[in-house]
Amino acid sequence: MKTAIPTAKDKILFTPGPLTTSLDVKQAMLRDAGSWHFEFNERVAGIRGKLLELAGVGKEDGYTVVLMQGSGSFGVEAVLGSVVPEEGKLLILANGAYGERMIQMARHLRLKHCALRWDENTAPDVVQIEQVLKDDPAITDVSVVHCETSTGIENPIVEIGRVVKAAGRTYIVDAMSSFGALEIPLEEAGIHYLISSANKCIEGVPGFSFVIARRAELMASEGRARSLCLDLVGQLKGFETNGQFRYTPPTHSVLAFEQALRELATEGGIAARGDRYRQNHEVLVKGMRNLGFRTYLDPALQSFIITSFHFPEDPKFSFNEFYRGLSEKGFIIYPGKIAKADLFRIGSIGRIFPSDIRALLGAIGDTVQELGLDLQYRKPAATPVPESA
Ligand SMILES: *Cc1c(COP(=O)(O)O)cnc(C)c1O
Repeated sequence: MKTAIPTAKDKILFTPGPLTTSLDVKQAMLRDAGSWHFEFNERVAGIRGKLLELAGVGKEDGYTVVLMQGSGSFGVEAVLGSVVPEEGKLLILANGAYGERMIQMARHLRLKHCALRWDENTAPDVVQIEQVLKDDPAITDVSVVHCETSTGIENPIVEIGRVVKAAGRTYIVDAMSSFGALEIPLEEAGIHYLISSANKCIEGVPGFSFVIARRAELMASEGRARSLCLDLVGQLKGFETNGQFRYTPPTHSVLAFEQALRELATEGGIAARGDRYRQNHEVLVKGMRNLGFRTYLDPALQSFIITSFHFPEDPKFSFNEFYRGLSEKGFIIYPGKIAKADLFRIGSIGRIFPSDIRALLGAIGDTVQELGLDLQYRKPAATPVPESA
């Protein structure tokens, strides 16, 4: 086997995260920061303040920010495990893998919970949610995923939030793959806890998640945490008393995040970043359709964050070969994550531009040719079984 020499640049990630990041974000990590040192703590405080600004809320509006070590799921689990009362009940809205993950978390945490499920290509039904909240007074908390990255569907969190708010329940939103690229009106949507992470649309590197929380409600949940390390109030108290993470912080990831926030501001904030991602998505969908690929979701439900495509019907298609063909050309795509259809996904997020999408489309066209795939091929319709006399 031939030993490959290192290439000058990394492969481009068209994934749901971690994502391609800027050189300056990566270089920000080439430092050693003392985790208990006041200079580092000032940076952490600065980041917490900037996140509130980005969320369009301030301390005076009653919000605070908690950073939590670990990937995004750790942040979600920290919220569910810390805020749902022992005698309470969590309603989980699920139409994809990340909603299902919340259900798994609730089981592991032994939370009282129930779930409303929809197909992966279907938005949650607000009327149905309203009815369930009316019928089951035991429900205290409702959780939902904003952009279900498993397909790319964008769930109507504001409409759901109005119903949750009117019913007086606590509202938890996993905005992992949307915060930083989509404006989220926290107050209008009545969101008590919004969770996101460093390595999605802010374009930092993995290492921590963050929770934007209504401070009074969070403080009122003190004592409920089912975990020491993932205790949200405990973590907030660390930041508010001595400015520190309670346990070793991901120092390099924090430094990278600080730079990523600066670059987000330079780009023009959430609106400008969202515009770039939207352009990426539009160039992608147009190009893929021209090649003969079909998208999975109804465009009305489709976010510009990540797009699912059906596998070509040509029996010669193998995802692994297709993936490898693209990887050899320097492009990383993602497999699908749903049970009901064979899909692959292409993300529009991270430090990528329409020119990168065009390069990817070229590589996809070349790979289709190399593999001899016929994208017009349609599986013959099943022949009806003749009725026996
Ligand atoms: C990425 C993501 C998560 C967290 O996944 P991790 O692998 O734990 O970072 C959770 N929810 C959504 C919607 C996501 O896109």
